Amino acid sequence: MVKRVALLLLILSLILAGSWGCLRRPKPADAPRPVKIEQAAPATGVAVPVLYYHLIDDHLYGPYPSMFVSPKEFDKQMAYLKSNGYTVISLDEIEQAARYTKPAIITFDDGYADNYTNAYPILKKYNFKATIFLISGLIGKPGYLNKEEIGKMQDLVSFQSHTVSHPYLTKLSAKLQDYELAESQKEIEAIAGRKVDALAYPIGDYNRQVIDITRRYYKYAVLMLPGGIYHTGDDPYLIKRLNIQRSLSIDGFSKKIRGLPT
Ligand SMILES: [Zn+2]
Repeated sequence: MVKRVALLLLILSLILAGSWGCLRRPKPADAPRPVKIEQAAPATGVAVPVLYYHLIDDHLYGPYPSMFVSPKEFDKQMAYLKSNGYTVISLDEIEQAARYTKPAIITFDDGYADNYTNAYPILKKYNFKATIFLISGLIGKPGYLNKEEIGKMQDLVSFQSHTVSHPYLTKLSAKLQDYELAESQKEIEAIAGRKVDALAYPIGDYNRQVIDITRRYYKYAVLMLPGGIYHTGDDPYLIKRLNIQRSLSIDGFSKKIRGLPT
């Protein structure tokens, strides 16, 4: 009997300790850093792999060689999409992606000059649409796309915003966040002559406040992390993407776009 009472007491104290632990769990700090914002429900819609690239170039420079996909590999990846029946759609069709057979989206961040010299001819070859997220303050600077190149790519490429100066948005005041989002949209619309309604959070840095300001100006926003596959019905301000890095083999590419480990 004593043993049984002792056991009951032990179980009771463990349950209490457990729930106390939950209640006492510290709240996330309010420090300016990315906050994990969960999707409301498990994915049930149509899978839309949203690929993202930076540079398409064999001329490597800077500290991140993985950001430079070889033009040859990029060509192979596009050929893979074509021969495997993917329909490359534009970002603003993402919510209607269920209309298409095996929809996929191609995006580029930062607006590097090689997107015109190296990526665009390959996009032309396959007649694939793409979206380039421009840093408006760097348009026309050495190494970045200029107005003329942007004009020439309009038949296949949609130009969207990656802010004015590529800051960590969560570290800015609300006023500066507003400036980065509104000003870049205005400048890119003036250059491209079309509506800019999507944002790529620079360095994948966002929190609830950034999302709230984004909603004022944009219909969509894309992430860097967490990487993964977007499904129709997911939050349009938390669009997951798949980072395509230099080292990725074509076998890895085929797995990645199907959401499989590479
Ligand atoms: Zn960027």
